[in-house]
Amino acid sequence: MPTTVSATPAAVIVAIDGPSGTGKSSTSKAVAARLGLRYLDTGAQYRAMTWWMLSNGIDVNDPGEIAAAAGKPVIVSGTDPQAPAISADGADASAPIRSEEVTAAVSAVSAVPEVRALITELQRTIAAGTDLAEGAVAGIVVEGRDIGTTVLPDADLKVFLTASPEARAARRSGELKATDGKATADLATTQQALTERDKADSSRKTSPLKKADDAVEVDTTELTLEQVIECVVTLVEKAAADKAGRMEKAAR
Ligand code: C5P
Repeated sequence: MPTTVSATPAAVIVAIDGPSGTGKSSTSKAVAARLGLRYLDTGAQYRAMTWWMLSNGIDVNDPGEIAAAAGKPVIVSGTDPQAPAISADGADASAPIRSEEVTAAVSAVSAVPEVRALITELQRTIAAGTDLAEGAVAGIVVEGRDIGTTVLPDADLKVFLTASPEARAARRSGELKATDGKATADLATTQQALTERDKADSSRKTSPLKKADDAVEVDTTELTLEQVIECVVTLVEKAAADKAGRMEKAAR
């Protein structure tokens, strides 16, 4: 049964955007877990679409072929920040979407307007929480590249995380080591790959990576992850209190 979003701080909608290596995923997950909100990793959805295309013989260098296949896979995302889940056509995609092959192809796939239209609609449906059980937490932290600008322009809080290219490459390289148990690439190669992906994501025609005018920018270069989490938790608590105040006033 569809639920109505209640006038409580638990209904807050948070958009967290920024390039990779800024601590976006770790921060978004931790903030959602700490405040009891749902969590959506939109990058994982684009990666799952890319993984499905690669697994099904779609030429990821051909935008026409990508567009024609975009509606085929059923992508399902979990919203528990403690156990993020993603599947494509029922197959668990959480490990393969982190492969180098998927990372190298995801910007090309996500630049195709048909892919973006489908995934954006999916993201809005999840954020609206219309399929949630009565009384379930409606509030959500959604992380990505175009959440504040395109997907959820009316979000209660928009945060844009940045960091220097050096800091981002060092963090990304650390993550790769943690996933693979080995250094898959040296720092310079990682930095080069990140720069190229950012360039593709920022220069594409359809909803590029961009800070929304009303987003709060947080430069994480000199901050520890815990400091970034603290900062965003404070921003969310303030946005939730403001929203509750507005709703209370409107109900009077
Ligand atoms: O965040 P992550 O690095 O997993 O994102 C993978 C890719 O998905 C990005 O490089 C970008 O091409 C695409 N993406 C996007 N829009 C989003 C989230 C991710 O285009 N909202």
